Amino acid sequence: MTMIGHLIDGAMRDDAARMQDVYNPSTGAVSKQVALASVETVEEAIAAAERAFPAWRDTPPAKRAQVMFRFKALLDANKDKICEMIGEEHGKISHDAAGELLRGIENVEYACGAPELLKGEHSRNVGPGIDSWSEFQPLGVVAGITPFNFPAMVPLWMYPMAIVCGNTFVLKPSERDPSSTLFIAQLLQEAGLPNGVINVVNGDKEAVDVLLSDDRVKAVSFVGSTPIAEYIYSTANANGKRCQALGGAKNHAIVMPDADMDNAVNQLLGAAFGSSGERCMALSVAVAVGDEAADTLVAKMREAMQPLKVGAYSNRENDFGPVITRAHQQKVNGYIDSAEADGATVVVDGRNPQVEGYEDGFFVGATLIDGVTSEMQSYQEEIFGPVLQVVRANSMEEAMQLINDHEYGNGTCIFTRDGEAARYFSDHIQVGMVGINVPLPVPVSYHSFGGWKRSLFGDLHAYGPDAVRFYTKRKTITQRWPSSGVREGVSFAFPS
Ligand code: NAD
Repeated sequence: MTMIGHLIDGAMRDDAARMQDVYNPSTGAVSKQVALASVETVEEAIAAAERAFPAWRDTPPAKRAQVMFRFKALLDANKDKICEMIGEEHGKISHDAAGELLRGIENVEYACGAPELLKGEHSRNVGPGIDSWSEFQPLGVVAGITPFNFPAMVPLWMYPMAIVCGNTFVLKPSERDPSSTLFIAQLLQEAGLPNGVINVVNGDKEAVDVLLSDDRVKAVSFVGSTPIAEYIYSTANANGKRCQALGGAKNHAIVMPDADMDNAVNQLLGAAFGSSGERCMALSVAVAVGDEAADTLVAKMREAMQPLKVGAYSNRENDFGPVITRAHQQKVNGYIDSAEADGATVVVDGRNPQVEGYEDGFFVGATLIDGVTSEMQSYQEEIFGPVLQVVRANSMEEAMQLINDHEYGNGTCIFTRDGEAARYFSDHIQVGMVGINVPLPVPVSYHSFGGWKRSLFGDLHAYGPDAVRFYTKRKTITQRWPSSGVREGVSFAFPS
């Protein structure tokens, strides 16, 4: 059976003391095993990153960026292979995997602009004959810890920017679907990165805890669920590290009575069920304003959901694939059960769908639940499955209050034809990423990504301009050169 190891100091390494099964969620079978790094292995990776730092720090930003240009070309050339790896271990259909990779590559493209991004700020004559400037220096060894749901994209939110800023990196990917993440890091190595600048250690809490406690690690970027994000943030901070920890979500869409209902339904289908709802920006709650809008929405959704196909990642005709594990499948089904027990109506029931030829896969079909209220556990918690809950509100204010009261504040969207309502919504909603008739308002690579409230711990968002600030420390230099008369002796002849 294939064993997935680590990339340390430019070489592949096995560390077989502890291993974990990696599943193909479409078949339900174990397809590989991943090594879980020991404390010593993680310490070796940190040591390699620390050794590589001084030379990489002094490498001109334009040279660092050239590695990223070659990296992008290698990512493009290996697209199909990467999408296959994502599909096999995560379960997403190849067109969805291709979309994920594309959004990741856009971050590499942004990182190619490092010389421009790192130019700093300069003020001449802040006093008589005195100049002052701020420059942005790398931190040293930085770490990234990433979730299963975007094994290619989320790591690419982190290390391209960290590395072009002059840092060296230790990445701890999700142990549930590690192959594409590791392969992509190998491509970066192949693009000409010096050994030790990028290191990948596979593992679990044991590996993470080393990254959080070792003094040589200066900063930690984390993306995953909220309880772990909170743990990472508080531990990293207690250990004196800079930290940004992005957590879970419960993204609401408000459907106003004046919305183009067919458009809203179309958008909700992809945003709620795409990638089996395992996206931190998935729309999992539709708040319909007024009973008429709610009845129309539910009727149209029910009809539009009938042809949706859940199935194996390898069939491009499927709309979405399985969820990540058997345990997660049971958890998602459990939330549907609990909504029903709490009095909501399961309008379209995706529990235990039949997928011919893949009877042991971890599938949940698209599910629509009406009559959900804010007291229900299934409303309060993140389900992270292909389940859309409909909540009925009497006014836009009431709908917005629901969103503002929710503990999460990652993404949200309003479907309306009224510009003033949309403007009021975007102005007052307590959420970090807002869409107006755009269901998944994921910022492009030259903006930054992050939620509010318990969807993000820390000050700076991921990638884009905030990444330059997160992965560097500002140094401000003030300079004066008193005249020493050297200019009198100056020669204007061309040096020979
Ligand atoms: P997770 O929190 O279980 O795992 C994330 C990472 O943390 C993994 O690398 C894992 O190995 C590590 N980890 C898990 N338990 C740990 C522990 N006890 N101590 C230390 N490290 C631990 O998340 P997941 O299930 O892989 O990913 C899904 C979650 O990620 C969802 O909640 C989703 O909303 C969230 N997510 C958020 C964003 C965002 O940008 N806000 C993006 C993607 C995913």
